[in-house]
Amino acid sequence: MARILVGVDLGGTNVRVGAVTPAGELLDWKISPIEAANGPQAGVAKIAGMIEALLGSLPPAELAGIGIGSTGPIDRGRGAIQNPYTLPSWVDVDIASPLSARFAAPVILENDADAAAFGEAWAGAGRGMRRMAMVTVGTGIGTALILDGKIYRGMDGIHPEGGHMLIDPAGPECYCGAHGCWESLVAGPGIARLASAGAAKEGGAMLEMADGDPARVDARILVRAARQKDPTAVRAAEQVAFYLGLGLANIILLTLPDGIVLGGGVMAEYDLFAPGVRAVLDRHNSMVPASRVQILTAQLAGKSGVLGAARAALSELEEHN
Ligand SMILES: [Zn+2]
Repeated sequence: MARILVGVDLGGTNVRVGAVTPAGELLDWKISPIEAANGPQAGVAKIAGMIEALLGSLPPAELAGIGIGSTGPIDRGRGAIQNPYTLPSWVDVDIASPLSARFAAPVILENDADAAAFGEAWAGAGRGMRRMAMVTVGTGIGTALILDGKIYRGMDGIHPEGGHMLIDPAGPECYCGAHGCWESLVAGPGIARLASAGAAKEGGAMLEMADGDPARVDARILVRAARQKDPTAVRAAEQVAFYLGLGLANIILLTLPDGIVLGGGVMAEYDLFAPGVRAVLDRHNSMVPASRVQILTAQLAGKSGVLGAARAALSELEEHN
């Protein structure tokens, strides 16, 4: 019987479940709202039901393992989710044991940023790179490093949080308690704040697109107005590019990867920010060849997490067999 892996991408809003071959082919996948407010038990039961439906719709195969990429923080060793931030009430939720018992297969839990990076390195924009960094810009900023096909891990297997690297000590307070973290400046809400402040002060196309309410100006509106060359939006986009570039420069100075893959909805519009980012990186060429680092957008769109979670399960199996 053919071997198959299941990848689960668990976010604060949606859960995606996919069936993947050991060669990295995504056979089929499903998406559903996670409805975290219903509690972890309902959530785990929902994921189990989705896996069952998915496997039932495919030709019979031997389930080799299940990988889960979850919005963090997680306890990887215990297979438990510790995340009341984006999954309210999900505190110390053992997700691995119930799924492992139900499907009689090993279950591997990974941080979602690591899983997405694994997916892009395996089957997306990072194929062939020995050193790949991934930066996912969404509600927050997730960072991950893949070195020679393996995820870089911190002490005790803990996932480092590049989204909270210090970019501006005088910057806004982050929910983590520090000031001027990268993600407080240029994740979705930070981008919206920059754009909204510009629109409130200067008006223009962004304010029109938000029906006159600056509070409704978000990253999507910023991108649309900047593409129409609205001067306020162009200035806000330059600011976004500057902060984005500072974080990428830090990653490059610290790790000098072959490439950085950018994921998340706003980064699909990276061409808009690329000149500003390049201008920042060009200033760091004297110590390292920063301008030679490829900056690419993710290729797998919503599927990098599912593929990467399956890859994580596969690599765990390979390590222990
Ligand atoms: Zn922070």
